[in-house]
Amino acid sequence: MDQDDWKERYKALSEELDQLQSQLNDRPLQHLILQMAVVLDGQSERLDRSLTVLCEQLKADKAGNPETINQVEKQLRGLDLEQQQHRKELLQGLQKWIYQLRLNLTTDLSNQRLSVIEEAMTPFSGHPSEVATLINDLVALQAPLLTDDFTGGRSQGILAELGHEDEELLQKIASELLSLMSGLRIPQGEMSLARELISRIERGISLSCLPGIIQDLVGLVSRLSAYNSEDFEDYLLNLTGQLAEVQAYVEASQKDGLLNEETALLSNGIHHDVQAIHQAMQDSNDLQQLKSNVSSQLQNIVKSVDLFKQKEENRERRLHERYLQLQERLEQMEEQTQQMKVHMEVERHKALTDSLTSLPNRAGYDKQIAAEFDRWKRYGQSFSIAVADLDLFKRINDSYGHQAGDKVLRLVASILTRQCRSTDFVSRYGGEEFVLLMPGTSAEQALTAVDKIRHAVEGSPFNFHGEPVRITLSLGVAEVQADDTVETLFGRADKALYTAKRLGRNRIELG
Ligand code: GH3
Ligand code: MG
Ligand code: MG
Repeated sequence: MDQDDWKERYKALSEELDQLQSQLNDRPLQHLILQMAVVLDGQSERLDRSLTVLCEQLKADKAGNPETINQVEKQLRGLDLEQQQHRKELLQGLQKWIYQLRLNLTTDLSNQRLSVIEEAMTPFSGHPSEVATLINDLVALQAPLLTDDFTGGRSQGILAELGHEDEELLQKIASELLSLMSGLRIPQGEMSLARELISRIERGISLSCLPGIIQDLVGLVSRLSAYNSEDFEDYLLNLTGQLAEVQAYVEASQKDGLLNEETALLSNGIHHDVQAIHQAMQDSNDLQQLKSNVSSQLQNIVKSVDLFKQKEENRERRLHERYLQLQERLEQMEEQTQQMKVHMEVERHKALTDSLTSLPNRAGYDKQIAAEFDRWKRYGQSFSIAVADLDLFKRINDSYGHQAGDKVLRLVASILTRQCRSTDFVSRYGGEEFVLLMPGTSAEQALTAVDKIRHAVEGSPFNFHGEPVRITLSLGVAEVQADDTVETLFGRADKALYTAKRLGRNRIELG
């Protein structure tokens, strides 16, 4: 019964195929389309669906529905774009592969072969036969790199380039990573990844593959529920926070120019503690133990920072105290300076003043005559000078004593000051000699002025022990002349004074 059914069905199918074949033979284009549909099958799901519909329509109506044909066309164009994209990605993949191979190939010969392969790729058609050849060539070139024998050679090649220190470093990192992994309790679900990682590390690590390995390892560790990740995160946050604080402080110190020995000590201390953390990470096989080691080192850092801060605070307090002291000291110094200025002014005044008469002394005169001379030279303003000498003063001293003589000198000084104009300058040149400077005064005017003075002195009622005493003075006057110097001007006046003395005293002569 079953057998009969099967025979019936086979017969029906056979007839259908024959019928289809004869139909297709009548229409070669439909036949071609059906053939192409078979070839295109599997390129894209949507295209497959549209082609199935088209084939059905071709079989049934002997002509395709225009809408379906349109759809197939669109999807064929899309397929072309997709293939272009795939070709591009394929090319990029191959180029990356070549790049990695170039990094790892050590012999000139292999590099030459790689260059030949690379040249053959341009232009890249993406044709499967071309791709197949390329892949075969690259695999052949890569084969020696993957054997155990070559791993050693390759490592030597890379390490030779890296140098001895880097070689040691890579070995250390590898053993550190392996010891870290051996201490991890890996759950069943992560076991295959862990094994794969271990074998990658054991094969030997290079600088270029290290970031990838570490990234995978970090991913693995972060997924391990056996460890409380919150704790770990907290500890890292803590460490980061502390270091940020130190960094901020150090930066602030740098900004304030406070970097000193203490900062250097702190920096060294932290460096040492961080080294210890690295050491602990290397030595530890157990994450829990590692955490406690690192925590204790962290506490050291915190202590160092606290101590440093305390020292800095003390230092700042001391600095502030010193600053206040300095400020106080400065104020004292300012006061002292002010006192000194007053003192110097007094001294200067003293130096220029005669203590007996309070008139400017010889030094005062020198200063004033120099200024007057400059003024005359610059502005051409004429001036006169009068040298006055008490007549026979020795007798006064001899007769009434030195103190009486002093008193006379003071009285004459006050008469001279009173009789002169405010713009005139009266000085005690020395002994019983006075010099008057009269700015803007001609010789003639000066004669008139000093004659008034002479009269005033002569008419003063001096009394000693009830006895009236006659005091007179002689004067020599000179007006400044074109080629005068201070000395020549004075010399003329002095000479005139002596003339006055010689001519009988109590008189004035012009020089
Ligand atoms: P002449 O008219 O020629 O100027 O005679 P003279 O006596 O004034 O001149 P002399 O130069 O011989 O004497 C000046 C005197 O002035 C001598 C000195 O005792 C006196 N003498 C100078 N300075 C002072 C002083 O500061 N105080 C007193 N008491 N006497 C002084
Ligand atoms: Mg005299
Ligand atoms: Mg004299």
